[in-house]
Amino acid sequence: MIYNIAIDGPAGAGKSTIARRVAKELAFVYVDTGAMYRAMALYLIRSGAGKEDVKEFGRLCQGADISIEYREGEQTVILNGENVTPLLRTEEVGNMASVSSADPKVREKLLDLQRKLAASMSVVMDGRDIGTTILPDADVKIYLTASSQKRAERRYKELTEKGISCCLDEIRRDIEERDRRDMNREISPLRQAEDAVLVDSSDMTIEEVTKRILQICCEKFSLSDREQKK
Ligand code: C5P
Repeated sequence: MIYNIAIDGPAGAGKSTIARRVAKELAFVYVDTGAMYRAMALYLIRSGAGKEDVKEFGRLCQGADISIEYREGEQTVILNGENVTPLLRTEEVGNMASVSSADPKVREKLLDLQRKLAASMSVVMDGRDIGTTILPDADVKIYLTASSQKRAERRYKELTEKGISCCLDEIRRDIEERDRRDMNREISPLRQAEDAVLVDSSDMTIEEVTKRILQICCEKFSLSDREQKK
């Protein structure tokens, strides 16, 4: 039996941390679709494109072959044969991904890969359009969000703990700008699927959010098991 769990939400809501934990608890595979968009953004940057070169994205992205491997349970992103996983979490790549992910050709290139992964194994897949576009029949759909202030504070803490100096207001503005782009693009905009459960993590700990999502999954799975026995 293959189960699919979709977790969507805005940047910095804690999706990847939570999705990874939920996947571990259920022994499912965690699929980070943001990393695929980041790998595409890295390819575009390496091709010499800037954020303003939107008209070139569709043509340039055809040269990128992106695939996923799992090494010791962790997702590894392969771009044209190279493991680029350690290069994907920078602000430069994230900002480019936020712009280039609005291109229909970029999305088309990654859609198949995401659907094939979900069809081949039980996954917890996180992103922006998983519940609405990629896996409309997912068994469980979660829309995980938090206020932009809370998301900015978490990011600020993460960066300062790494010794990186940063400005809270700037981080908040950047997050709000990404939300605006993700929610207002024409193709697959970020929105809560009608049948998704809303989880607002603003005043919740990681443990509390994980527990809540696991509870939703368990209710859903035992219900469908019972339904099957009828
Ligand atoms: O989640 P993460 O910050 O790694 O995603 C990077 C960018 O990729 C996001 O800003 C978003 O615009 C885009 N993205 C998307 N659809 C997804 C996952 C990510 O458009 N399913």
